[in-house]
Amino acid sequence: MNLSWSLAAVARHLPHAPAITAPEGTLTYAAFDDQVARIAAALRGRHGLAPPARVAILMDNCLSFLPALFGIWRAGLAAVPINSKLHAKEVAWILENASTRLVLASKKHAEALTAVGGALPEIIDDGSADWRKLISAAPIATAPTDPGTEAWLFYTSGTTGRPKGAVLTHRNLLFACHAYYADIDFVDDRDVCAHAAPLSHGSGLYALPHILRGSHQIVLPGFEPADVLALFGTHQSVSMFAAPTMVSRLINHPKAGACDTRGLKTLIYGGAPMYVSDLKRAIAQFGPKFFQLYGQGEAPMTISGLTKRMHAETTHPAYEARLGSAGIARTGCAFRVVDDAGRDVPEGDIGEIITRSDCVMPGYLNNPEANAKALRDGWLWTGDMGAVSADGFLTLKDRSKDMIISGGSNIYPREIEEVLLTHPAVLECAVVSKTHADWGEEVIAYIVAKPGAPAPDAQSLDALCLANIARFKRPKGYRFADTLPKNNYGKILKTELRVQLQAEGDPRSA
Ligand code: AMP
Repeated sequence: MNLSWSLAAVARHLPHAPAITAPEGTLTYAAFDDQVARIAAALRGRHGLAPPARVAILMDNCLSFLPALFGIWRAGLAAVPINSKLHAKEVAWILENASTRLVLASKKHAEALTAVGGALPEIIDDGSADWRKLISAAPIATAPTDPGTEAWLFYTSGTTGRPKGAVLTHRNLLFACHAYYADIDFVDDRDVCAHAAPLSHGSGLYALPHILRGSHQIVLPGFEPADVLALFGTHQSVSMFAAPTMVSRLINHPKAGACDTRGLKTLIYGGAPMYVSDLKRAIAQFGPKFFQLYGQGEAPMTISGLTKRMHAETTHPAYEARLGSAGIARTGCAFRVVDDAGRDVPEGDIGEIITRSDCVMPGYLNNPEANAKALRDGWLWTGDMGAVSADGFLTLKDRSKDMIISGGSNIYPREIEEVLLTHPAVLECAVVSKTHADWGEEVIAYIVAKPGAPAPDAQSLDALCLANIARFKRPKGYRFADTLPKNNYGKILKTELRVQLQAEGDPRSA
């Protein structure tokens, strides 16, 4: 099975249906499929590439991204989509790590990359004569592909260090598509899938179940809350993937209340914690149209999920706890919560989340050390800490590296963050540890105040914590900031905050 095969079938059935709309124009499914077949032919013929060669895509969200992706697959090759917001030096590192043979790039990124110099693969920018030759070669049919063939080399977002390349096969991606239909929505040509997040990451993965069923991809150049809100008023049956920070920006937008959002079908959020107070406001604003996913690059989008129904069951006795959870196992996925030795911990106790399904990657590229750690006895060790309830709801605590150990007690930052966010003057917060001479680590909270609200003060925040969580967990210090450092996917970079704190000075001299 090759995902490009399904695109050909859709194009045959729905040739005139709009497939992709971007600021540059629209492609029907027939035109999309035709471009894919030509790109594949040029990659095989003109560029002499054969499986298992890898071709990188270094493009902003644009009309060419998805044809490039499916063109690489039609040729039987593997794609390496790279976040175009990365620094050219970081991109060069990935290209080398992935032994990439060719890069399909937006013009400005091709130029930035060339300026870095060094041993780079051939680069074709989408404004060049070479690109025009690429999309005008005589079309070919899908190369025969084993389902276990590498399709997408997915670089993790690197919140902990150098990104790792998770090998995702056609089978892994197809499984994620099937789980989408089983748990989120059935899709057809009446649907619209909006892409306001980078196609090189989660949003691109979400394009797949939609393309395989002939829906219309609307590719936005970036995330502008006003543009996204407008889409919900002008289109019907719109689904979209958004990081929690994007959902917050949508609901905090001054026009959010006045917008017609009837066209929104499903807002899929995940990739980072969505705090209960924000989620409740979002549901009040848009209705119970939310699906929360928990996954990671190594098991794309598909470990557990909180369904739309669970968001709607406001009278359920466990409603609040459920909103704070990442839901139940996705169809066809198993997960367990275990101790260091891989033994299941009792219900409600915290341990590391491990998962097993056809979505789990076969491994990281060229990284035996990371593979030995992440893949054990057929299970993927996620590095996430969580607890499971008697009825199977998984609550994520934190990444194991974000857990704080103070005076021998384990403290999970998310629990404290959930409390701090209920303060009326707090817009965003992040709880991290600082080295402490006596306690090992102490808890520090970074706070971003809501614009226009009176600034929150340490006393009122402390009182809020004392009223809601155990004394030993409450922050010993507060830092007030205008913004929090985030990576290109909107995830808060706690590593940077920890570095900032350590730079404040040696605790022993304090
Ligand atoms: P990435 O590989 O960049 O998609 O990042 C995956 C990581 O994001 C996971 O290992 C979790 O730490 C985090 N994550 C994903 N989904 C959720 C969620 N629903 N709630 C909290 N954290 C999440």
